[in-house]
Amino acid sequence: MNDNPAQKIRLIMELRRQGISNTDVLSAVERVPRDVFVPPTFRDRAYENIALPIASGQTISQPYIVAYMTQLLNLDKRRKVLEIGTGSGYQTAILARLSRRVYSIERYRNLLETAEKAFEELKITNITARVGDGYKGWPEQAPFDRILVTAAAEEVPQALIDQLAPDGIIALPVGRDSTSQHILRITRDEAGNLSEEVLLPVRFVPMVQGVAE
Ligand code: SAH
Repeated sequence: MNDNPAQKIRLIMELRRQGISNTDVLSAVERVPRDVFVPPTFRDRAYENIALPIASGQTISQPYIVAYMTQLLNLDKRRKVLEIGTGSGYQTAILARLSRRVYSIERYRNLLETAEKAFEELKITNITARVGDGYKGWPEQAPFDRILVTAAAEEVPQALIDQLAPDGIIALPVGRDSTSQHILRITRDEAGNLSEEVLLPVRFVPMVQGVAE
């Protein structure tokens, strides 16, 4: 581990300046060692506020984006969460600290296996992850109180809307290319009505149909 405390404090201060005010989210960022989720060659940069490459041409998201999307979900320990795009598993581990259980789907088996080793190393036990196509969600485990997507689809996948519980929240990047992507937050009220907010412009890797070879 390269759990550099000075760099970590600097990162937390930067996130606060950028508008992350939820103290549970900030303390999750403080407690989850990002260096464990970053490939060895980039480990000394783990606490910089930047996205970094992981295997299979994917990226571990920027800490600010992880914190921002987590904050949008307004989590607490009663919530059952679905995440699409496990990737490195860093966002999954943050969600796991703040919710009851996280179900996470990744289309690359090698990424999933590396992420699961990190969960084991950190003794995180409330994550269930599998290889699959996130466009289909996880019908056997639905409904979910919260859904977080970490790859950009062109449109909101209907299966995910269908698997959202009443009083539920989805946060996801949507948009055709990197110049037009935005984070959306979709809320379903007690009566089942949906409302949508278009928030931050972002640049995520694309959400791709089907499981990777
Ligand atoms: N939260 C991750 C982000 C990884 S990048 C992290 O911070 O490390 C987005 C991930 O979504 C990639 O690993 C990519 O393989 C995955 N992905 C893309 N399309 C998908 C799909 N249809 N189903 C499941 N995972 C998908």
